[in-house]
Amino acid sequence: GSHLCKRLLEEGNRVICVDNFLTCDRRNIETISGNEHFSVIEHDIIDPLFVDEEIDQIYNLACPASPVQYQKNAIRTIKANTIGVINMLGMARLKGARFFQASTSEVYGDPLEHPQQEHYRGNVNPIGPRACYDEGKRCAETLCFDYHRSHQLPIKVVRIFNTYGPHMAVDDGRVVSNFIIQALRNEPITIYGDGSQTRSFCYVRYLVDGFIRMMNSEESLHGPINLGNPNEVTVKALAERIVALTGSSSEIVYKELPQDDPTRRKPDISVAKEKLGWTPEVSLDEGLTHTIAYFKTVL
Ligand code: UDP
Repeated sequence: GSHLCKRLLEEGNRVICVDNFLTCDRRNIETISGNEHFSVIEHDIIDPLFVDEEIDQIYNLACPASPVQYQKNAIRTIKANTIGVINMLGMARLKGARFFQASTSEVYGDPLEHPQQEHYRGNVNPIGPRACYDEGKRCAETLCFDYHRSHQLPIKVVRIFNTYGPHMAVDDGRVVSNFIIQALRNEPITIYGDGSQTRSFCYVRYLVDGFIRMMNSEESLHGPINLGNPNEVTVKALAERIVALTGSSSEIVYKELPQDDPTRRKPDISVAKEKLGWTPEVSLDEGLTHTIAYFKTVL
């Protein structure tokens, strides 16, 4: 969110940031807090929000994204993706604004098709520990398309695959920040399972670029569109890269694999390439180097 706010301000927009600060650090917006075109409303979108100003675009990124954080806040996570999304869709209707919804690769669950294309309907456990997020985001997508069908609301839905970069919280709990922090502290690197599960990691700057391209795309393009880096790596290979790039003396330890942890994940981004002219260009090593440099300043 803070990366998106900064980019929108750089492009000359007026930006109103709405956050309940449940899982993020206020320091992430410190550098822009003095900008006269930027304001912050501390608010949880589970409650209705009324803003006097005109608003022409709403980016809805509200939701914890780390499995550790959303499982800790399971019911709030479902509320954010249902009641919260309804509140924001209502605001978009009232303001005549375009509505952008940050959805997720988690709508594919533990996918039986590989790589994942947008028409794949997924393999989600509706009662498992990840369901608050997976089913929450699936319902958020449904709401967007129903508001579009019922009220002609202009909607833009993207499905975000694993993303990383500077300004992730130290206690976020996702794999890239965990491994970097453990490596920098020379503590054991915790691989869940045998490390053969795969993910495809996108550097945050490119993701934000994809958001802006999608929001400003032709009116008839609603998505959902996959946004992610198709460069698939195993969790073990990620751990080894981070140890090498940090020069860490950490050993690798293996812990139990969490329930319903997806085995493979890789986006097919042909639609994003064709419709948005978007490709994530930063290599994993380059993105990790920037992220390691950031964590060195905060640890
Ligand atoms: N993971 C791990 N060690 C950690 C954190 C995560 O091995 O300290 C694994 C996790 O089990 C999963 C992958 O890394 O297979 C990605 O996990 P993350 O929480 O970053 O996001 P997910 O893709 O599961 O939503």
